[in-house]
Amino acid sequence: MTTYVTQQTFHVDSSDLGPTLSPLETDLRRQLVRFGRCKLSGMRNVTSEIGMHLAVYRMRPDVQAIVHTHPPIATAFAACGKALDQPICSEILMTTGLVPLAAYATTGTEEVSASLEPFIPDHDAILLANHGLLTYGSSLPDAFMKTETVEHFAQVCLSAHQLGGARPLRDTDIEKLQQARARYTSNASRGPSCR
Ligand SMILES: [Zn+2]
Repeated sequence: MTTYVTQQTFHVDSSDLGPTLSPLETDLRRQLVRFGRCKLSGMRNVTSEIGMHLAVYRMRPDVQAIVHTHPPIATAFAACGKALDQPICSEILMTTGLVPLAAYATTGTEEVSASLEPFIPDHDAILLANHGLLTYGSSLPDAFMKTETVEHFAQVCLSAHQLGGARPLRDTDIEKLQQARARYTSNASRGPSCR
């Protein structure tokens, strides 16, 4: 399943998609990556920005959903050429990790996926210079919540700047948060315990 949220919506789903979808490429996933630029069904045309979705699916077999938006505060950072990469809040380190800025690329061209590719393997959220935000995750709610988290973090960064500048977390504290995130992710993938 992929969902593209802006003025257009591109949505592919199937009864085969859901919690049981293997992280490995399924036939459906291969079809999406191979034929994603062609409209298979539906009333609306495939978005011109489908290329960035397909780049993520190609490079991240664990990703099941992608959200691309133009949220105002995060996009303002992208418009100013500023990544959201200052470790000033524990929340962002526990969710998406810090957010890099991909170089500007013309919307709807292969340039967009090329600008994202260096960041896709190690990040779950990427700012697109002078454009917007891309987040992805294990489900549509997961990808959407990362969008919400990044926009909230952008608001915090802006407010902290207006207040004279935040004090970044120390390296030792960042390391502890990264370890906690790894434990949380590991526990979540095992599912709830019955005991
Ligand atoms: Zn866009």
